[in-house]
Amino acid sequence: MHFPVLIIGGGPAGMGAAIRLQKAGADCCVVDRAVFPRPKLCGGLLTQKTRNLLVSLLEQRTEEEILQAVAADRHRRLRLFNRYAVASDVEIDIPFDLIHREVYDNYLVSHFKGAGGRMMEGEQIISFDPEQKRLHLRSGEMLTYDTLIAADGANSWMRNRLGMRYGKRLFCLEILVRKEDFGFDGIGIYFDLPNILYAWVFPKRDGYCIGICSKENAATDYKRVFTSYLKGIGVRNLENYQLKGAFVPGGGFLKKPVYGKSLLFVGDAAGFADPLTGEGLYWSLYSGVQAAESVLAHPEAPAGEYLRRIRPVQQDIRSVSRIMLLFHKPFYQFWLRNVKDYPHFVRYFSDHQLSLYEKEGLVPALIRKVLRRYLGFFLIRKKH
Ligand SMILES: Cc1cc2nc3c(=O)[nH]c(=O)nc-3n(C[C@H](O)[C@H](O)[C@H](O)COP(=O)(O)OP(=O)(O)OC[C@H]3O[C@@H](n4cnc5c(N)ncnc54)[C@H](O)[C@@H]3O)c2cc1C
Repeated sequence: MHFPVLIIGGGPAGMGAAIRLQKAGADCCVVDRAVFPRPKLCGGLLTQKTRNLLVSLLEQRTEEEILQAVAADRHRRLRLFNRYAVASDVEIDIPFDLIHREVYDNYLVSHFKGAGGRMMEGEQIISFDPEQKRLHLRSGEMLTYDTLIAADGANSWMRNRLGMRYGKRLFCLEILVRKEDFGFDGIGIYFDLPNILYAWVFPKRDGYCIGICSKENAATDYKRVFTSYLKGIGVRNLENYQLKGAFVPGGGFLKKPVYGKSLLFVGDAAGFADPLTGEGLYWSLYSGVQAAESVLAHPEAPAGEYLRRIRPVQQDIRSVSRIMLLFHKPFYQFWLRNVKDYPHFVRYFSDHQLSLYEKEGLVPALIRKVLRRYLGFFLIRKKH
């Protein structure tokens, strides 16, 4: 079988590309080794910029319709913890939505399939020849393509097969705790815990999604670290839960997320996730859409166009990584120590600054803010 565009992976990155191509009437096929709905380890925190992108992608659906369809839980209460002590507790104006990935991903897949999109589920790739633009599936099928979009996640088979190794990665552990075994109101983020970059409690309809994110380190006993955190926050009946782990790219993105002229890496496979917050849902959808736009603009050789489009994302991720290197622990420790004395600042940061950063990226927004503060409003033009 031959396809003008073949997409490997039906997560948000693959579906972002597939739905954008479908909207433009372009022929494509998505291959996934799983059958949807499929489980996926994820906190499921959805930011405003992702909601905006979903609305622009899924035409004729309002934000409310989409959120209702994916059974999102909306939260305004945000609590930050320094170890186990509350450092700040605020109501934010721009809420976060918490989604279940099984439902969310299946919604995107169903949208694509419902509009006639072609999807091959439960199909494992066993060999791949990028020179001949050909791959074989375990079922015996041989597929050829003009453009391949690799959207196969943080442990990308495609990337490993081509020897494009991962740089820095973060390792996360997560469980869904039943309501009767824990109690918590609002969204909780924990900092300054031993061997943990940050930890979270995300209340969802059927329980609490609780997780930790750490730097990848073979010497760390993640199970022990996670169990001690769970005990620290008071989760009961721990023996009834199975801990599950997965990788997040964490700043280790591919400098050139392409291979040749017609293989494009998107989402976690390209390493696109915010190194500070771990947010990947937005970047996967965004990069998938950009890959599709590049194919539509240059069907013969979309790689150059894709690199041009994705450069600002890379600059943003790189800058955030550098900020983390410079300030990480001392910075947030100082912030958390002082945050309780300045609750209005947390609210201001959460509501206004975060939305500003979402629009133009953390570093440009910070630089502009500082320059405006010290050089005066009239010298620096407002971008948005
Ligand atoms: C514990 C944890 C918590 C997280 N929390 C958040 C959060 O709260 N908010 C947020 O924004 N981000 C979060 N992330 C990050 C987010 O989950 C990812 O960035 C996002 O899933 C990336 O989407 P993707 O489409 O690139 O990859 P995926 O969602 O991983 O999709 C990849 C798809 O490819 C398929 N696949 C893989 N290999 C093959 C193969 N060889 N052949 C065919 N198909 C294949 C898989 O079955 C899968 O369906 C979290 C990640 C983790 C691990």
